[in-house]
Amino acid sequence: MTEPESPAWPSHPFDDDKLREECGVYGVFGVDDAANYVALGLHALQHRGQEAAGIVSYSAETGFNTVHRVGYVRDSFTKQSVMNLLPGRSAMGHTRYSTAGAKGVTSLREVQPLYADFAMGGCAIAHNGNLTNADSIRRQLIDRGSIFQSSADTECIVHLMARSIQNTIPDRMKDALRLVEGAFSIIAMTRTKMIGVRDPLGVRPLVLGRYGTAWILSSETCALDIIGAEYVREIEPGEMVIINGNTIESHHPFEAAAPRFCIFEYVYFSRPDSVIGGISVYETRRRIGAELAREAPAKADIVCPIPDSGTPAAIGFSQESGIPYAMGIIRNQYVGRTFIEPTDQIRDMGVRLKLNINRAIVEGKRVVLVDDSVVRGTTSRKIKDMILAAGAAEVHFRIASPPTRWPCFYGVDTPEREKLLAAHMSEDEMCAHLGIDSLRFISLDGLYRACGHPAGRNNQAPQYCDACFSGNYPIEPSDARARSKVRQAEHEPAK
Ligand code: SF4
Repeated sequence: MTEPESPAWPSHPFDDDKLREECGVYGVFGVDDAANYVALGLHALQHRGQEAAGIVSYSAETGFNTVHRVGYVRDSFTKQSVMNLLPGRSAMGHTRYSTAGAKGVTSLREVQPLYADFAMGGCAIAHNGNLTNADSIRRQLIDRGSIFQSSADTECIVHLMARSIQNTIPDRMKDALRLVEGAFSIIAMTRTKMIGVRDPLGVRPLVLGRYGTAWILSSETCALDIIGAEYVREIEPGEMVIINGNTIESHHPFEAAAPRFCIFEYVYFSRPDSVIGGISVYETRRRIGAELAREAPAKADIVCPIPDSGTPAAIGFSQESGIPYAMGIIRNQYVGRTFIEPTDQIRDMGVRLKLNINRAIVEGKRVVLVDDSVVRGTTSRKIKDMILAAGAAEVHFRIASPPTRWPCFYGVDTPEREKLLAAHMSEDEMCAHLGIDSLRFISLDGLYRACGHPAGRNNQAPQYCDACFSGNYPIEPSDARARSKVRQAEHEPAK
């Protein structure tokens, strides 16, 4: 079936001071109208990518069916006329913020799932994460005659599968994935099977669920809850599961490695109602706040979250410190697509459109503001201005993650290193730059303690990926290093 065109849509204009969530993937195997469940699952994963979404379904009558749309899931996959294009008992989808390939305005060619026809049948594939050697693989493939349709790193996997000499799609996928480096949680679908696979370090999440006799693969458990599915287990780091009818095979195609799950999933990316590694994300964030109150107490009258992501940590800070919790900042839930093409004047209002200070609560008070992270610092400065203008006596920032000093190469969009405030300023310098009374971040050990490791970070063998805080990259970011060498060479005078 063909898909109708949808208009290009700009990315959200007011959220440029956060690390951008990566992507969400969701698959349903073995239930009538599987695509309807996928649409609901993607809706629950919308926080992982708001630029575009796609669903592929398979039915014996119509074969593979694809709809890709730019924009929110709720606007793209609620009409019956669209869902009628996606019949069948198996379907999978992807919601996207571009972390590789074209950024900003999305072209439909970049939207996943990708689809390819192999000699043994078709295969759809969707990927959360980022391949760190995609540039060099792409160059080699192009040299050998591959013709790429998009700039997505995921397409490298498809071309590598096409070149494999194995007889089955799962075996071709294993061949391909052994050649790529980076972070990947992948869902793939053939005529008869659904496949879920995580990279050897398990940087990005992927869970398995059960809905009656159907199987579900999802980035997060909150997207199992939305359809009433049961959580079965996490796909293990380095594991490939192949779902075929009622059976699941588990394969381990990669060399074993110590897992390094992304610790930022606990801090910010995952939804607070998801469960990771058997621990509720909400509870972890609450414990981060309590840890922060012990490490960096403040003399204040109220503790306020910067909504929504700072809320559980602010509750934890308040419970531990005994300082009353209050909603000193209110989030406008409906800002976003109201302003499709903001003028410069509206863009300048930025934070004010999204957040409003609750003057009656903060006036005359010493306020502790709890946020999940500081990236560029532009939002923190504006909030400080607004809260002082509303009459707060003092403003203390407490941050539920260590200073973000390094870019992520594993599926999270971070600004260049020069734009990260903590990359070139000490904590004191940042405090002065923001013009606040005090600024403290949770320590890396404190964050590990809150994530369930009482002895903190094991520096010899860290339990998580924490590269954006520590600069310790568990997977060599080879493309990025090559690019920075090229940039350096371009700026060096010729000898
Ligand atoms: S660098 Fe940071 S955001 Fe990226 S995977 Fe590692 S911990 Fe997560």
